[in-house]
Amino acid sequence: MSNWRKKREYRTWRAHVIRRDKRCLICGTIKNRHAHHLDHASYFISLRFRTFNGVCLCKDCHMNFHCNFKNSYREKCTQKDFLNFAELFKYLFSVSLNYVAKNIKIQINEVRNETSTF
Ligand SMILES: [Zn+2]
Ligand SMILES: [Zn+2]
Repeated sequence: MSNWRKKREYRTWRAHVIRRDKRCLICGTIKNRHAHHLDHASYFISLRFRTFNGVCLCKDCHMNFHCNFKNSYREKCTQKDFLNFAELFKYLFSVSLNYVAKNIKIQINEVRNETSTF
């Protein structure tokens, strides 16, 4: 964990984002809330503590975005990536009533093979 996450500014930023959004913006749960940086905090340093650069996600959706949709928490991501992820999530929900979060990686790969937009 890098040093900036230990700063008070980070804790304040995180608290503001979660208080503003209240629930995971992807799935709507209020459990295990994280604050996600739309433009990656390691690459967009000036946006690290700007609340407009944060969204509330649950632990599972956060992990799915970084580890399954992107390749890791360290990979550079942007607002556009997040919007694509949100669109894909909505698409997966609309086509599969048996949607299970842990299967999202397989489904993402299937959709990627079927469409050219992702
Ligand atoms: Zn979620
Ligand atoms: Zn994140």
